[in-house]
Amino acid sequence: PFDVLVIGGGPAGASAAIYAARKGIRTGIVAERFGGQILDTLTIENFISVKETEGPKLAKALEEHVKEYPVDIMNLQRAKHLEKKGDLIEVELENGAVLKSKTVIIATGARWRNINVPGEQEFKNKGVAYCPHCDGPLFAGKDVAVIGGGNSGVEAAIDLAGITNHVTVLEFNDHLRADEILQSRLRSLPNVTVITNAATKEITGTDKVNGLTYVDRATGEEKHIELAGVFVQIGLVPNTDWLEGTLERNKIGEIIVDKKGATTIPGVFAAGDCTDGPYNQIIISMGSGAIAALSAFDYLIRN
Ligand code: FAD
Repeated sequence: PFDVLVIGGGPAGASAAIYAARKGIRTGIVAERFGGQILDTLTIENFISVKETEGPKLAKALEEHVKEYPVDIMNLQRAKHLEKKGDLIEVELENGAVLKSKTVIIATGARWRNINVPGEQEFKNKGVAYCPHCDGPLFAGKDVAVIGGGNSGVEAAIDLAGITNHVTVLEFNDHLRADEILQSRLRSLPNVTVITNAATKEITGTDKVNGLTYVDRATGEEKHIELAGVFVQIGLVPNTDWLEGTLERNKIGEIIVDKKGATTIPGVFAAGDCTDGPYNQIIISMGSGAIAALSAFDYLIRN
């Protein structure tokens, strides 16, 4: 059996695998797509000490760093079930294989919920963005829209109002759903417009985004706004469905972990965007991957 088996090959999983392997223990990593979300990211400017890089380049660097160590890499493999049997944890893969390990670190990440309108896929990284902390500064001085009037949408709009020229918030319902304190902060900003009852129909552009068309659900009228960027903020979904009925998750499906990354199953740890830890960022995922690996090592020497 493995000493540490990591599920997920994004920043959190890669970091966990390296920290585990450096303890000289038998380490494996299973990843559906090594690199994770950063494979879909263009410019990264907040990975501290690297002024600017590109997602696929950072993903390659992650893989090369993991390969410096004797880690068993199982790429293009999807985990579908996990179960504790005696002292070992069994992880079943979609291809039917069953891997056994003394500890498991789950780092299966998350995905942004798509709005699924024409233009969204086409203009991803060309004006369609999901992360204001990451991509906000790319739209400095320009006009942007935020789709979604929940907490994350309104937080994004407040953040973007400080960087961009103007922010339009589009909410499908007839009222914003964000906490009142966020809404009142939003209303106090001079360069924000809120449009409710707005059903986004299409994100328009040529080689990059130039606007958005929506239907006013109250009148049925179709309207167009000129924009340089559209931030889709309708939720982040953790990749934890496969854990249904095993360890404890919160109401949005994030794995509940303690300060050391421990889950409700002894010997099973979790890190990165799939957990209930705050703020989903590369640097934070890597930090929590390191915590989970050190905690797994600590568990091994005590059990
Ligand atoms: P992920 O990166 O989501 O990796 C999850 C891994 O698990 C993947 O390898 C996936 O294939 C694998 N996996 C999932 N399910 C299974 C399964 N059942 N079995 C096996 N493997 C599985 N953050 C920044 O700090 N700066 C930025 O500029 C930035 N820009 C971003 C731009 C975009 C478009 C997006 C989408 C995100 C951006 N982020 C940015 C956020 C950042 O990418 C994430 O916070 C980070 O990648 C999370 O790392 P993770 O390892 O927890 O999860």
